[in-house]
Amino acid sequence: MNRYEKQELFRPIGKEGQAILQTKTAVIAGVGALGSALAHQLARAGIGRLILIDRDVVEESNLQRQTLFIEKDSEDMVPKVIAAKERLNAINSSVDIEVHFKQLTGHNAEKLVEDADVVLDGTDNFETRYILNDVCMKNNIPYVYGGVAGSTGTVAVFLRDQTCCLRCLLGGRMLGETCDANGVIMPAVEITASYQTVEALKILTDQSALITPKMLTFDVWTRMNMETKLPFSKADCPVCIKNIYPALQKDFLEAVVLCGRKTVQLSTNRLFDLNQLESELALHHPILTPFLLRVTINGLDVAIFKDGRIHVKGTEDTKIAQEMYEEYFARLVYE
Ligand SMILES: [Zn+2]
Repeated sequence: MNRYEKQELFRPIGKEGQAILQTKTAVIAGVGALGSALAHQLARAGIGRLILIDRDVVEESNLQRQTLFIEKDSEDMVPKVIAAKERLNAINSSVDIEVHFKQLTGHNAEKLVEDADVVLDGTDNFETRYILNDVCMKNNIPYVYGGVAGSTGTVAVFLRDQTCCLRCLLGGRMLGETCDANGVIMPAVEITASYQTVEALKILTDQSALITPKMLTFDVWTRMNMETKLPFSKADCPVCIKNIYPALQKDFLEAVVLCGRKTVQLSTNRLFDLNQLESELALHHPILTPFLLRVTINGLDVAIFKDGRIHVKGTEDTKIAQEMYEEYFARLVYE
């Protein structure tokens, strides 16, 4: 008996595809709802290696849809990647699982995806998605996009020189999916992840030619399904046409409002040396913890993380946060 016999009986994969799959590596960026489902499916399918990237710990409100986690993980505030690795090892011990408990940034992205045969999107925000888009297009790695909000899901595969990229499609805009105002139901997550996994299985069995260059959008609640052909690359797309990758640039700075928290998150692709920042900002009486540096600047409560993020609490105006950054942080040295 062979644990993959049912999958090998499925003709488009077969014994040959299964053998290929066992030599391949997938990067899953974000191990929340989508990421849990993606990692679970690929581990069961018998992929060779999974690289999981996530910066968060498990919280109780994750358990409704993030299927790799259990109550004890949230009680113990275990990093998602650590809990995920433990579950996945128990499910399929032959899969090599590498984890990174960190924020994916324009600074570290190329190193993190260098071994990837495919990158799967399990994130919930567009700043990280543009990093994924840029790093995948630059390194010619298929990028399997997935997004969920409420009962709707969206899936698309972006392939260098074969389809447009995410920037072409959205023109660099951030869509509203970062806000969890609409909530999310687990069936929408599972179906989105399943469509993503299917496209990944084509890529990981060397059958990328089977990918359809279309974006799929659906609503599991109303049973609406829609396929839209991906447009050609835009003539002025920095990534597709000019080989410029904005999210990987050195002076990269993006700002998003964290919904309902009166906070702007600034993402840079820098790595901050918190000890050095502590002395540079001594006039403002900063407080250093093992994970972050807190300081009050211009009445704003600012938290600086090693991985290049800054949370500016007390405003929802991205311009104010960016100006504060330019004044206090842009010139500072970093690791
Ligand atoms: Zn493009």
